[in-house]
Amino acid sequence: MAFDSLSEKLQNVFKNLRSKGRLTEADVKAAMKEVKMALLEADVNFRVVKKFIKGVEERAIGQDVMNGLNPGQMVIKIVNEELIALMGSETTEIKFQPGSAITVIMMAGLQGAGKTTTTAKLAGKFKLKGKKPLLVACDVYRPAAIKQLQVNGEKQGVEVFSMGENHKPANIAKAALEHAAKNHNNVIILDTAGRLHVDEEMMAELQEIKDTVEVHQTILVVDAMTGQDAVNVASSFQEKIGIDGVIITKLDGDTRGGAALSIKAVTGCPILYAGMGEKLSDLEQFYPDRMASRILG
Ligand code: GDP
Repeated sequence: MAFDSLSEKLQNVFKNLRSKGRLTEADVKAAMKEVKMALLEADVNFRVVKKFIKGVEERAIGQDVMNGLNPGQMVIKIVNEELIALMGSETTEIKFQPGSAITVIMMAGLQGAGKTTTTAKLAGKFKLKGKKPLLVACDVYRPAAIKQLQVNGEKQGVEVFSMGENHKPANIAKAALEHAAKNHNNVIILDTAGRLHVDEEMMAELQEIKDTVEVHQTILVVDAMTGQDAVNVASSFQEKIGIDGVIITKLDGDTRGGAALSIKAVTGCPILYAGMGEKLSDLEQFYPDRMASRILG
């Protein structure tokens, strides 16, 4: 399960802390050293860990905490609050255009990150909000990707727009927008092509789509299991094309949690949703407070 190994380690640290009646500065420092190790083992970005520990220590070694009735509990409370802040504090919602205007969402990410699956999952969420989404097959390199989108779209009861493999993604996006206007779709989600690694060609293709149609939200899909690689991918996309939010997939299998804990702090981009399984219903809105509770048990 998500965060299991990190959670277990932190819970052990806090069990010790809770069992002490009074805390000395040395007790807090020793506990924070263990928290630091646990976060580094969870593959949280090094700079993020350093800043996090400093922030917690500064607050925890204050007079109010040390002289309080239950200092162990106070330290845990501070860690909880700082974890929530690390993940962005508030839940970030996808912003839709006002009224009946069409919202254009472009999905980006590396091959295998879970982009096509997540596109269909999102369409399901939007339908529940009363939207009429149109999925657009812009991955022209892999016929299997188009087919996969069609199959998943059908499962979700959502129309899929495809022009096969012989058109430029930017032109497909433009035609899809015209189709959506006629068809009264109010959200279109472009499923773009990924590559094995971040490369110029992929970025240029995404930029061309952005230059051709007005993209309101660019959402990056990253695989939680890849840890700091996911964070680096997010930084590259943020730098090259600009992203509005991240969806982190496969959190169900990620016992460490390093990517989930680092992405907002490193890139400034919020995590919008978390993929929690292969089924099309396995997409959860990302609540920093609930994630912190999951970690601290
Ligand atoms: P794409 O190449 O980025 O479009 O990736 P796909 O959507 O084809 O997904 C790659 C694999 O990851 C598929 O086997 C998906 O079922 C799987 N997958 C996607 N999201 C999740 C998730 O949140 N959890 C799990 N366990 N598997 C996922």
